[in-house]
Amino acid sequence: MLGYKASMTGTERWKHHVQLLLQYPTKTRELCLAYSWMNNGMFLDALKTGIPNQFEFCKVSMEHAPEMLLDTLQQRSTESSIQIKPSVLPVRKSEKPACYRCGEALTDSIRTYIDYSVVKCKCGKRWMHQACADKEMTTAAKCDICVKYKKLTNFYHATLLETL
Ligand SMILES: [Zn+2]
Ligand SMILES: [Zn+2]
Repeated sequence: MLGYKASMTGTERWKHHVQLLLQYPTKTRELCLAYSWMNNGMFLDALKTGIPNQFEFCKVSMEHAPEMLLDTLQQRSTESSIQIKPSVLPVRKSEKPACYRCGEALTDSIRTYIDYSVVKCKCGKRWMHQACADKEMTTAAKCDICVKYKKLTNFYHATLLETL
């Protein structure tokens, strides 16, 4: 375009612009507009890569975009368009709620009705199988951390959600 090349450095582009102004003194406005295009990073990038949808993008991103020129460049392009693929996020595996004492699953979901126990002390609640809770109360009735007696509550046909 007007002798400009995408590979020109900033200084070369400026010198070329001054040259054009001397050559066509009546076309200052048009030449300044062309010079502004040649200083637009996105336009230069599109010229260098020749990627069709990058020319398309220039139409909306550039101020006073040279739409006809961009259309021509886009049509002439032999490059393939950039495809933006959304990244595929790994699906998190859901973990089953587990018994605090034995580590085995208590249930499949916090919404399932089951029999279970909650062993409580100042440190918080621990969910367990009822058999595990019985063992806990006979072998470790006092909490090692808060040194208080643990409190056992059994739940029958209840969901874990009710005690969360
Ligand atoms: Zn257990
Ligand atoms: Zn405790």
